[in-house]
Amino acid sequence: MSITPLMPVYPRCGFRPVRGEGAWLISEDGSRALDFAAGIAVNLLGHGHPHLTKAIQDQAATLMHVSNLYGSPQGEAFAQRLVDTTFADTVFFTNSGAEAVECAMKTARAYHQSQGSDRFEIITFKNAFHGRTMATISASNQEKMHKGFMPLLDGFKYVDFDDLEGAKAAIGPKTAAFLVEPIQGEGGVRPASDAFIQGLRALADEHGIMLILDEVQCGVARSGTLYAYEQYGIIPDIMATAKGLGGGFPVGACLATEAAARGMVVGTHGSTYGGNPFAMAACQAVWDVVANEEFLAQVRSTGEKLRSTLEQFIGNYPDLFTGVRGKGLMLGVMMTHETRAFVAHLRDNHGLLLVAAGDNTFRVLPPLNIGDAEIQTFMEKLSAGAASYQMPQAA
Ligand SMILES: *Cc1c(COP(=O)(O)O)cnc(C)c1O
Repeated sequence: MSITPLMPVYPRCGFRPVRGEGAWLISEDGSRALDFAAGIAVNLLGHGHPHLTKAIQDQAATLMHVSNLYGSPQGEAFAQRLVDTTFADTVFFTNSGAEAVECAMKTARAYHQSQGSDRFEIITFKNAFHGRTMATISASNQEKMHKGFMPLLDGFKYVDFDDLEGAKAAIGPKTAAFLVEPIQGEGGVRPASDAFIQGLRALADEHGIMLILDEVQCGVARSGTLYAYEQYGIIPDIMATAKGLGGGFPVGACLATEAAARGMVVGTHGSTYGGNPFAMAACQAVWDVVANEEFLAQVRSTGEKLRSTLEQFIGNYPDLFTGVRGKGLMLGVMMTHETRAFVAHLRDNHGLLLVAAGDNTFRVLPPLNIGDAEIQTFMEKLSAGAASYQMPQAA
């Protein structure tokens, strides 16, 4: 047998973490790496955060899981907290980002179909990433995720990101929703323009269609506000959140207004694990730390500091770097060429973890509670890495 016990779907690297301490990961062989990837925007409080750890330990000893057949004081309490701190009136808990997007799309279709309309089509945007289920790969135009899994689900139209005219032109009698990342993550840390998001909101209102935001990566304080939509001055009808939501505990949520959720009635949707007491305890602990103006102001000022330091630095290497973009502590550094080799070089030779993304961009996604010391170490490693990097020869 030559297949590995772990299904070989990831190109895993040689760094094998077994422990974490704040913004650092420690490998099996004892080597340490500065973690400015944070599990791809998941470990927003770093590793081993005392408040989150204690909440999970206490809940594990009290009650981990019960079925959604029973009343959920834990789910009600955290859903109420989300309702109090966001646009939403109601929340469905999931175990991942893809499931949160899946629920969002079902909510949008059910909104229309519950009132006798047969609208089902969802307009999405090129180079989006919404997850790896059949529906969420169908929602993305990226062929690398489709290969081998055809046929896709019906009912998606792909339009250029940030192209409002294109979005308008794609609307038809069957259009149920727009689905968009306000800041594309995997696609290359591309923030949508204000005009685009505000324009989608206006088009959605005008044509009676749902605006779904996928804030799985940019949500939960990452962008400098609790959710990125706040910075666009609009509210969505439906929104998917996950990644940072449990600070490392696998949990997601689909949030909706009361009007948008009108099709999601008893018996229409479900999840065995979704919103169990264990997950809710992790979410509450994360919210205790992040859902206040002091913490969010700190994320914004740390983000500005990191961004201006990066912008100054990349000027030294115009042959490697072309710019910095993003919001808050969701930053992307644009390079002159594909970024995977540089990200691997930083990891293997300088103990710095980042994440490659599309559009020749790598992602800088540190824990949100880093300070000056981590920024300084990051810049030292990045400088040393840029100085020692051999650019791949053009093919
Ligand atoms: C990561 C991600 C998802 C999928 O989340 P999973 O937890 O991997 O299912 C969906 N949308 C966006 C924007 C993401 O970044």
